[in-house]
Amino acid sequence: MSTDTVGSERERADFIREIVAEDLRSGKHRTVVTRFPPEPNGYLHIGHAKSICLNFGIAQEFGGRCHLRFDDTNPMKEEQEYIDAIEADVRWLGFDWGEHLYHASDYFEQLYAWAVHLVRAGKAYVDDLSADEIREHRGTLTEPGRDSPYRTRSIEENLDLFERMREGEFPDGTRVLRAKIDMASGNINLRDPVLYRILHAAHPRTGDAWCVYPTYDFAHGQSDAIEGITHSICTLEFEDHRPLYDWFIENLPVPSRPRQYEFARLNLSYTVLSKRFLLRLVNDGRVRGWDDPRMPTISGIRRRGYPAEAIRDFAAMIGVAKRDSVVDVAMLEHCVRGVLNRKAVRRFAVLRPLKVVIENYPKGQVEELGAANNPEDPAAGTRTVRFSREIWIEREDFMEDPPKKFYRLAPGREVRLRYAYLVTCRGVVKDAAGEVVELRCTYDPATRGGDAPDGRRPKATLHWVAAAHTVPAEVRLYDHLFTRPDPGAGGDLLADLSPKSEEVLGGCLVEPLLAELPAGETVQFERLGYFCPDPESKPGHPVFNRTLTLKDTWVRIQAKGREDT
Ligand code: ATP
Ligand code: MG
Repeated sequence: MSTDTVGSERERADFIREIVAEDLRSGKHRTVVTRFPPEPNGYLHIGHAKSICLNFGIAQEFGGRCHLRFDDTNPMKEEQEYIDAIEADVRWLGFDWGEHLYHASDYFEQLYAWAVHLVRAGKAYVDDLSADEIREHRGTLTEPGRDSPYRTRSIEENLDLFERMREGEFPDGTRVLRAKIDMASGNINLRDPVLYRILHAAHPRTGDAWCVYPTYDFAHGQSDAIEGITHSICTLEFEDHRPLYDWFIENLPVPSRPRQYEFARLNLSYTVLSKRFLLRLVNDGRVRGWDDPRMPTISGIRRRGYPAEAIRDFAAMIGVAKRDSVVDVAMLEHCVRGVLNRKAVRRFAVLRPLKVVIENYPKGQVEELGAANNPEDPAAGTRTVRFSREIWIEREDFMEDPPKKFYRLAPGREVRLRYAYLVTCRGVVKDAAGEVVELRCTYDPATRGGDAPDGRRPKATLHWVAAAHTVPAEVRLYDHLFTRPDPGAGGDLLADLSPKSEEVLGGCLVEPLLAELPAGETVQFERLGYFCPDPESKPGHPVFNRTLTLKDTWVRIQAKGREDT
């Protein structure tokens, strides 16, 4: 955990912004051009959001531009569904690439021509070794690699074979094109990396036009150069690829000279940020899809009710560093609560209802009471809630035989019903099994609005809904997807999935206004947490997801951190 550095890193610009500022100041670049380069082989997650906020954020702050580029070089795993989802997610986060939407596949012809350029220069060759043999020849960190027997092929033969690879003459995996660099290099990435492989597979954009596809390494930097990217920002695992990135730029007649910079990827406690694993959860039916509210995907986070603004706040708060660390997921949740506390309107909902009959309240009477939409924001105004003789309260707000610190409703005790009256419990009704099914209460008519003229103040204020003025709803309670902060550390990720990450409640009762709440709008159910309508909501059957509870553990963690230092 490096939460200690977070505060200070936020104060000053991060090292990447410092580099960009210096390059603009010195005149090395007149304008900054960045890109976000997802591979469309899955949905974006919160780690990608960090990269998006960084790349688009820098472009915004320095008056440059940021491209959205699909790194679509592997047709085996890529799909249009992912392309569409990625565009929607970047937009939802609040960023716009304008006309600068690109695909590595737009450059296939140019990349092929550059590969031929390397062959002609004697800097690339066709290798007939199998993938296993190539791996075996590559050597290790301590041993140099060995030359392939095909490394000395003539330029003519290489040109001929590479062209026939493109023509589709050879089956998958029989030949590759490799750069001829240095099989003894201390950097394994420079030991004749593969530039092209044969894949007889249709591509979502180029269809059947190609059966040879460039590798990430060969496509990425050259795509950057074509687009005039000035700062190619990626995660630390590409640090060792930078010499190769530079080798291509130096050995090809590219139109510009981008530079690669690496930063630490986001890791979050209680969270797995691996597209492959997330895909597995989806395929195995362990979640409700890529946008399941427990998924760390941007679409999952959106469905969960996290506001985009909170994600941007989070990205700013964690900053950008050059050292790997794990961020506490409580920090992300803190950012979400920060935005929602300011913006979410308050509503009444009762998740596990217990009926209350107010014996001295006139039958058939309905009162309209004013209730604040958001006590944090007077401009949000008020709404009307209806009160009547029969109401519902939360089952857990009553105990027949309360322990010492339970201040809520109990026989003989008075509590406040928020925005309504003080009521006192006079008796309980039980079913045959002895379970309390109804409370009999009386109210004090002099306490309308919740204040007693004689100044008496009950210790508890409860939320409620009136029986005749409520709508039934399904509510899904969400919690962390994993039971441990470091999922998989015990060797089995699936074993760490939490059986309690989703609890579905039927028979909840909510304020009628909530039935009209549009998807994507998160509200506070008073005393319970933040909730938003799920896209599966239907007229007559609203479904709400719990975004978060109200308890902010990050504040406590931070306070503890200060004590410790
Ligand atoms: P894979 O390549 O295994 O499919 P990936 O997560 O690297 O997974 P990409 O689509 O290649 O997926 O990522 C797009 C961009 O997002 C890259 O620049 C990558 O460095 C960045 N990125 C991915 N994961 C994170 C993360 N956890 N934190 C920050 N940036 C990330
Ligand atoms: Mg990647």
